[in-house]
Amino acid sequence: MALLAQSGQSLPPGQPQDAAWLQSLIDGLCALSSRDALTGLANRRHFESVLARELDRVARAGEPALLLLLDIDHFKQVNDTRGHVAGDLVIKAVADALQLCVRPMDTVARVGGEEFAIALPNCPPAFGPMVAERVRTRVERCVVDVGLGEPPVSVTISIGGAFAPQWVRSNLALWMERADKQLYRAKQSGRNRAEFEPAVVSQVSAEEKGLLFAAPGATALDNPS
Ligand code: GH3
Ligand code: MG
Ligand code: MG
Repeated sequence: MALLAQSGQSLPPGQPQDAAWLQSLIDGLCALSSRDALTGLANRRHFESVLARELDRVARAGEPALLLLLDIDHFKQVNDTRGHVAGDLVIKAVADALQLCVRPMDTVARVGGEEFAIALPNCPPAFGPMVAERVRTRVERCVVDVGLGEPPVSVTISIGGAFAPQWVRSNLALWMERADKQLYRAKQSGRNRAEFEPAVVSQVSAEEKGLLFAAPGATALDNPS
């Protein structure tokens, strides 16, 4: 209860210890453990579980899924010239902007100090650059009020994008690493831009796809239809 109160969340209504009260206490604590305290976005741990679920879906159903990694450009300068409190306000404003330009099914997370990530299930490769551009321009247009008499702050972000390989079981670390490489390229090529790994549509035969659902140990020849 103290944890919920400290985090500014309301305490469960009703009589302490009755079943509904205990359930809402558990729900509140679960929500707390999956959220980032500063921004209210998903935290890294929760985001990783979302990505793992997505990898599984992509392997089973072949739906394209996109991972975007985003990092605020020259953020140290914001802290150095405007102070850490202003820096925190900028991080919150960027978080709000990101949340506003995705679909309800997408997950936006704060995965590091001024680093964010977005998981976009069922996102066709052709839409990736469009989504990234929408996110990039939304942040660029943000004017963050950092207090009375202080000039507002604006920032830009760099974005790296990678699609989960379809019909193949990949893993979390590899997917993150591929998006991170693209983020690095975006930083190297001038910042305030998005870079994408070319979408690879793997050439997997119908038999190979069938193997994803077959009993362990089955071979493609077991099911030749
Ligand atoms: P680059 O364009 O290469 O990303 O330059 P950068 O200055 O943004 O470099 P980097 O991403 O390495 O800087 C991260 C800075 O973010 C360093 C750290 O002081 C600051 N930071 C990390 N977490 C927080 C936080 O919670 N609040 C604030 N105000 N600053 C933070
Ligand atoms: Mg960074
Ligand atoms: Mg940065």
